[in-house]
Amino acid sequence: MRFTACRDVDSVSTTPRPIALVTGGSRGIGAETARLLALAGFDVAINYHTNTEAAGSVLNEIKEEGGSGFIIQGDIGCEADIDRLFEKIDQRAGHLGVLVNNAGILSTQSALADMSSQRIRHIIETNVVGTLLCTREAVRRMSRRFGGEGGSIVNVSSAASRLGSPDEYVDYAASKGAIDTLTLGLAKEEGPYGIRVNAVRPGFIDTDIHRDGGEPGRVARLAGSIPLKRGGTAREVADAIVWLISDEASYVNGALLDIAGGR
Ligand code: NAP
Repeated sequence: MRFTACRDVDSVSTTPRPIALVTGGSRGIGAETARLLALAGFDVAINYHTNTEAAGSVLNEIKEEGGSGFIIQGDIGCEADIDRLFEKIDQRAGHLGVLVNNAGILSTQSALADMSSQRIRHIIETNVVGTLLCTREAVRRMSRRFGGEGGSIVNVSSAASRLGSPDEYVDYAASKGAIDTLTLGLAKEEGPYGIRVNAVRPGFIDTDIHRDGGEPGRVARLAGSIPLKRGGTAREVADAIVWLISDEASYVNGALLDIAGGR
């Protein structure tokens, strides 16, 4: 794949690598995306919430492959943490060229009737408000209307935004609906200023997130309901994210790409 932003980057170049920020880059889909973006030549900012060890091991793997990156702790549901995260990015040599809004949370499977307001607010603060604030900060740095060089934003939505997740987590599904709408609107708003904005909508992907929903074996249980008869892998989603960022997708803007095995 080609990445214009990285074309001058090689082991002898003094040109700083463009920065790609991956929120929630320590595990699952985010970790796979961080690894691939480092291979593509980006200086990868690996954001994580609590698991310093996991973030550190993604960074070590990147460095062993000759890539560049750094880890940044920060809760995407906390505005002060987001401010601190972008301050650290501003201290690096390269400019921000990519944002992957991957961090997202869900809570224990439940009907809406049984959800506490605290839980609902936590999901929306993290998945919606946090994503909006990260995106705002990225746009301020990337948009040509503010003197930036343009770039690419990929939002990690979910098939839940069109399926609704009844009796599991409609709060989470609703938060992903907001991410779809953000993608459509921002693609139109910032396309003229050099930023492409797209989203992936994964289906059942084999990661730790299902443990947070109270059912670690959820993907295996539901595999039979998927036309391809299996869950997806984090790598399959990361490949699509990186393609959307690449020059091969240079005319793709405002797309919601389903990666759900046909479900
Ligand atoms: P995962 O394996 O559970 O990994 C979650 C990642 O997000 C970790 O790096 C975690 O950091 C980080 N994170 C969690 N809360 C955070 C916060 N408040 N601030 C910053 N980082 C935070 O999850 P995943 O399955 O890869 O999910 C990634 C994205 O894909 C999410 O947006 C999710 O909604 C979406 N998605 C997943 C599936 C699926 O089936 N897996 C399907 C559709 C959509 P720590 O390591 O520090 O905890």
